[in-house]
Amino acid sequence: MIAAISTINGDRVPIIICDECHKELEDIEMAIAAMPASQEFTEEIQQVLHIHKTNCFDVLEIREGEFLPWLELQEYLFLLSQRCELKT
Ligand SMILES: [Zn+2]
Repeated sequence: MIAAISTINGDRVPIIICDECHKELEDIEMAIAAMPASQEFTEEIQQVLHIHKTNCFDVLEIREGEFLPWLELQEYLFLLSQRCELKT
């Protein structure tokens, strides 16, 4: 999940939290965007979970009982920024 953390001086810094273990995803190269089947969304729109690449993704796939589609998180965020026409 995309979240924010408050600093000592009151600023809010964006962070990404693993949707499985709820710890911060600090190394984007060790994170993926996983797309489990969800009853809350239509077939056209899927929920995207931000997940640690190793143990947390394994736990998620075992719980879901199937292989899940996924992308490297940095690739997913790049595609998202293009779709949103993010400007720096
Ligand atoms: Zn995790």
